[in-house]
Amino acid sequence: MTPADEAAVREVAIVGSGPAGLTAAIYTARANLRPLVIEGEPSSTSDQPGGQLMLTTEVENYPGFPEGIMGPELMVRFREQALRFGADVVTEKATKVDLSSRPFGIWTGDLDVSEPTYRAKTVIVSTGAQSLMLGLEAETRLLGHGLSTCATCDGFFFRDQHIAVVGGGDSALEEAIFLTKFADTVTVVHRRDQLRASKIMQDRALANEKIRFLWNHVVDDILGTTSVDGVVVRNVLTDEPTTMPVTGLFVAIGHKPNTDLFKGQLAMEDTGYLITGEGTRTNVDGVFACGDVQDHTYRQAITAAGSGCMAAIDAERWLEANAS
Ligand code: NAP
Repeated sequence: MTPADEAAVREVAIVGSGPAGLTAAIYTARANLRPLVIEGEPSSTSDQPGGQLMLTTEVENYPGFPEGIMGPELMVRFREQALRFGADVVTEKATKVDLSSRPFGIWTGDLDVSEPTYRAKTVIVSTGAQSLMLGLEAETRLLGHGLSTCATCDGFFFRDQHIAVVGGGDSALEEAIFLTKFADTVTVVHRRDQLRASKIMQDRALANEKIRFLWNHVVDDILGTTSVDGVVVRNVLTDEPTTMPVTGLFVAIGHKPNTDLFKGQLAMEDTGYLITGEGTRTNVDGVFACGDVQDHTYRQAITAAGSGCMAAIDAERWLEANAS
């Protein structure tokens, strides 16, 4: 590398800008490491700047906000705090990484270009996770046309309509409760007869007059060409299909970590979650991972932020120990 290239090498590059990535940015910026945050690009999934909280409504359990705060507003505040201390944030999506030698290379845009867009001595991976889909052909056709993974984004379009939510976890019930602000009825379609959601969310949903439950049912098809005209559900006990006359379907069945970029380079579980040990260290020296990309257990904004702080401290100590 030429001296100019050397100067362009960042101390820390952070890939992903949810609570984990932006907390890592705040901490490394305050440590005068001038982190580069590759925040992602706008998209209709949670794989976007700000991450999954951009698709939520009220966050009531983030400490410090006794009245609650809207997810997107919380992320705007995280970002402003990182910028205040000198983080550089680029609205680009990483398309390729080379973690085989240091400084590490990160590409955004055209991945066939030989030189990486950015080089960094340490990389903090905080690419998060995104919504799982049902795997139906109709999903590609109807996503954004009556089919959604984001009640906050799309709930408004279902005023006075009958709609359905699939899933039985906290996300499904949170979506269902939010959607009752707009829809006439919201039917939660769940494949079992017991919810996975927390007790408080169950109590709220069960007490909501607009919410109905269709137990032991799965979604087999979504009808409609340019908009949702109905949903074909099947009773898993009797195998009997029924068509529900709904005009909207929200899928809330869990998440998949955003780790395709790191396949073959970072150790991961069969499910794709990155494996970390000794704090936030990955199997590659100088690469750290935090937030939902390596956590399938807690998956909360506060735990993601906490592990972002850990990754920042781990990276800072690594840089001190490996100063050249
Ligand atoms: P989750 O807890 O994994 O629940 C996924 C739900 O979808 C389960 O009920 C599951 O059914 C069902 N499901 C999965 N695949 C399915 C398929 N192919 N067809 C039909 N149903 C399917 O995911 P989540 O609700 O997204 O929550 C993830 C984590 O975030 C949890 O830890 C949760 O507590 C947390 N969270 C918290 C809040 C909050 O506190 N406000 C809000 C949202 C999420 P089974 O039950 O049969 O497996």
